[in-house]
Amino acid sequence: MDLCIIGSGYVGLVSGACFAEVGHHVVCVDNDQRKVDALQAGKIPIYEPGLEDLVHRNVAAKRLRFTNSIQDGVDSSQVVFIAVPTPPQVDGSVDLTYIERVAREIAGVLKPGEYRVVVDKSTVPVKTGEKVADTIRRYNKGAEFDVVSNPEFLREGCAVPDLMNPDRVVIGSASQKATDLMKQVYEPFRAPILVTDVNSAELIKHAANSFLSLKISYINAVAAICEASGADVEMVADGIGMDKRIGRNFLNAGLGYGGSCFPKDVKAFIAISKQLGTPFKLLEEVERINAAQLNRFIDKVRNALWVLKDKQIAVWGLTFKPDTDDVRNSVAIELVNKLVAEGAHVTAYDPKGAEKAVEWKLIDPTKVKLAPTPLDAVKDAEALILATEWKEFSNVDFAEVKQSMHTPLVFDGRNLFDPETMAQFGFTYHAVGRAGGK
Ligand code: NAD
Repeated sequence: MDLCIIGSGYVGLVSGACFAEVGHHVVCVDNDQRKVDALQAGKIPIYEPGLEDLVHRNVAAKRLRFTNSIQDGVDSSQVVFIAVPTPPQVDGSVDLTYIERVAREIAGVLKPGEYRVVVDKSTVPVKTGEKVADTIRRYNKGAEFDVVSNPEFLREGCAVPDLMNPDRVVIGSASQKATDLMKQVYEPFRAPILVTDVNSAELIKHAANSFLSLKISYINAVAAICEASGADVEMVADGIGMDKRIGRNFLNAGLGYGGSCFPKDVKAFIAISKQLGTPFKLLEEVERINAAQLNRFIDKVRNALWVLKDKQIAVWGLTFKPDTDDVRNSVAIELVNKLVAEGAHVTAYDPKGAEKAVEWKLIDPTKVKLAPTPLDAVKDAEALILATEWKEFSNVDFAEVKQSMHTPLVFDGRNLFDPETMAQFGFTYHAVGRAGGK
């Protein structure tokens, strides 16, 4: 099939590459000329395992191309996906200006007699599909189209396998013609397809991300109780997670959830529920626990080091999770900035995220030193904080780390290390909600 994706970011680019991989012809559109130039020159603007090969292979096979022209994309495609940002506004509600603008732009290029399915893949509040359809109709009276909701559930860091083997594909549609075309798009993936009405599909995405955030806050609240009682949250999580009704995923105590999706989607769901007159107070508590988690962790560092001013602190990890270069809303970055604000001298290391953290002005490189390796970061450090659980941190030579540090003090914000092993190496080890690492 001929497909167009408007917005070539984490969702649009990976979706486009995966659609091309299964045999569709895909045009990825973006209004960021630098991004389009880079993609046309074979450079991949984001880090996502497996993406580079996928893009190069499909460009070479002439199934994938990039443009800045919506006209080009819409003219040459039966199905037009929207994958532009939906950031939060100050009050937590969703800023839909990107979506509205794209709807108007699509309206401007739709031709009479040329039916298109317009698919919203961005995460949007319930009832956005209706507004997109109204907008297209208002700006193009004769347009022949249907609007479908197809929320995306990929996880950054494993976006390619998630898209190639989704748990489910949700198609929210009021038109049989559009549903049939969408089923054709997804047929090669052989994934379970759930067809719903548009509103339900939109709601599924916010309800899913809010539920996952709730699981994280739940285990973090349990971690606090573990710390107060001497229990071990990892054992508790194993014990409850072995119950098939609960499951072990997303029961990892740590610094709390961050990233470009969970914080904004929980906020959005709170705002949506308020607007609909059915406030979802439980989610406000989820947010409160999440915000408290980082402060509780920094308290531990303060308890051990007393005054943070002028202390040399190494931080491993800047991205919001491993295997991505995405540093948007990263708790690791928030941690670094809080330490710096208290006058600590921070040296940070991240395998993929340091460049973007500086480029997007999320950290100030005159205040935070960036190290080229984990070992460089810990030189003369009075404490090491693990903020993102990149696999390479498990494989570091801890004898060398200990020798390099001024004081062998480790704060593990993601419960990555084994408390006994850390003790054997001679570290004073603090983890989250864990016996032997209080
Ligand atoms: P992103 O910022 O990485 O990418 C968005 C792209 O859209 C950018 O390249 C931007 O230049 C482009 N864009 C903006 N306005 C445009 C326009 N008018 N015309 C053409 N291009 C335009 O964002 P993302 O992370 O891919 O997220 C996109 C949507 O998908 C959001 O609603 C997000 O909540 C949702 N989502 C994200 C993830 C994730 O893990 N990142 C997962 C599921 C859903």
